[in-house]
Amino acid sequence: MDVDSRRDIFYTPWRLPYIRSFVKGRSITCFFCQYLQEGEDKDDLNLVVYRTRHSLVVMNRYPYSRGHILVAPKRHVPSIVDLEGEELEDYVKTVKACILAVRNLLRPDEVLAGINIGRVAGAGLEEHLHVHVIPRWYSARLYLPLDFNEEEIYRDMQNICRTLREELRRVLQDLA
Ligand SMILES: [Zn+2]
Repeated sequence: MDVDSRRDIFYTPWRLPYIRSFVKGRSITCFFCQYLQEGEDKDDLNLVVYRTRHSLVVMNRYPYSRGHILVAPKRHVPSIVDLEGEELEDYVKTVKACILAVRNLLRPDEVLAGINIGRVAGAGLEEHLHVHVIPRWYSARLYLPLDFNEEEIYRDMQNICRTLREELRRVLQDLA
């Protein structure tokens, strides 16, 4: 298989525990709300990248690629139509800043940003709105390796989390 034909295949075995949780019909707790409750002291451990006044940015623990992040409003609402005024403004600005920060830091060929609506579409937490920001590279080289090691991936995510936090702070200051 050449690199070009591989680029669109998302083979992500580390997502299996997550997918299995749906097969069993278990409902998962809302980790956005959990991280918010646990406080900033645990942000490194929880892979929380950033908190703005109304929004939260976290690393996706079941990523499609390196640097796959999730942007959520702090309020537990299912849809972007539930956001208004300052909250909506903060949220949209945070999504924009995340795209810019991921671009600056990881230099992907493109960035996918999107909202899944409903569980079938792939949303794990359909009750709490989140936008996926996913960097993609034309070469498969920078995707997570198939012979993944969970410990290594977690360490890598913690590194990205910390550097992304700095970059995001800088980008948000520029946008202010
Ligand atoms: Zn929530």
